Amino acid sequence: MKLDEYKSKRDFSKTREPDGSGTKESPQQFQFVIQKHDASHLHYDFRLEIDGVLKSWAVPKGVPLESNIKRLAVQTEDHPLDYINFEGEIPKGQYGAGTVHIVDSGNFTLHSHDLKKIEFELAGSTYFGKYVLIHTSENNWLMFRKKEA
Ligand code: MN
Repeated sequence: MKLDEYKSKRDFSKTREPDGSGTKESPQQFQFVIQKHDASHLHYDFRLEIDGVLKSWAVPKGVPLESNIKRLAVQTEDHPLDYINFEGEIPKGQYGAGTVHIVDSGNFTLHSHDLKKIEFELAGSTYFGKYVLIHTSENNWLMFRKKEA
């Protein structure tokens, strides 16, 4: 199952994070979220709805707003769709313990998607425009915003 790794890391009797049993409210729209995650190391979780789950990356320095910046994005396990609304505290002792705060969310258009490259256009309130994720090695990707034509 797609979410096995996600579920195996968490005890849902102890954390309020979604357990993966939820359903999506508007299935015709694809959504993204950026969550500031103040855990053992502060990072930003970037999640794109692809193939019925949230494909996820931890971006230590945050999603770039400008086109001349490349950021490391480390792919993490797929998350359930309703994680898009999750904010709050992950209890001590639980995987990812700390606080989660939504920085931005909204719809996006998926332009292309394969194992090496994902091209998409965000339509959030702070983060918008065309972006690219390029696979480099293992779980490592590079993320950047494309220059406007
Ligand atoms: Mn995280």
